[in-house]
Amino acid sequence: MCWEDHVSPDNPLIEVCNCDSGFVHLMCVMRVFSENVKRVESENSVVYLFSSWKCETCNEFFPFNITTPDGKVLSLLQYDNLAPGADYMVWENVGVQEYKWIYIFWPTPEKHALWLGRSEEADLIINDESVSELHAVVRFEPGHFARFVLLDNQSQFGTLVLVKDRTPILLSYSKAI
Ligand SMILES: [Zn+2]
Ligand SMILES: [Zn+2]
Repeated sequence: MCWEDHVSPDNPLIEVCNCDSGFVHLMCVMRVFSENVKRVESENSVVYLFSSWKCETCNEFFPFNITTPDGKVLSLLQYDNLAPGADYMVWENVGVQEYKWIYIFWPTPEKHALWLGRSEEADLIINDESVSELHAVVRFEPGHFARFVLLDNQSQFGTLVLVKDRTPILLSYSKAI
């Protein structure tokens, strides 16, 4: 995936897989990665879809976060700049290596609830057997103590919430709802 043979502090060689030749330039990884991302925007949301991201030689999945030689962790996904201080939620599928999606939702006066479920009617469709048709809804409550409130919609397997505080956007963050 390399187009350049030039290494600089801004463009170090990084290890992406188990191959002997598994070292590539940071810029080259970022270029290939960005070509792999599909971005779909609506009035209230933007979703990023990443197709499989894997070495054709050693079959190892490439990481979504890259650690540079000086120890910095970079997310390969370049998020949109959301307005500073804006309220928004980020949803990410975890535990699947073949593909990934990131869904960012921000409330507006017209639309301030996000339905989750397997149904086509859900805003965020989650195709998993443990998810009911209209599994749960997250409502935004504006005001001084603005917050998102999640309500389980009598789903078959229930909803477990682990993220309770404001959390920075970090790809592959280890907590999930
Ligand atoms: Zn390169
Ligand atoms: Zn490889």
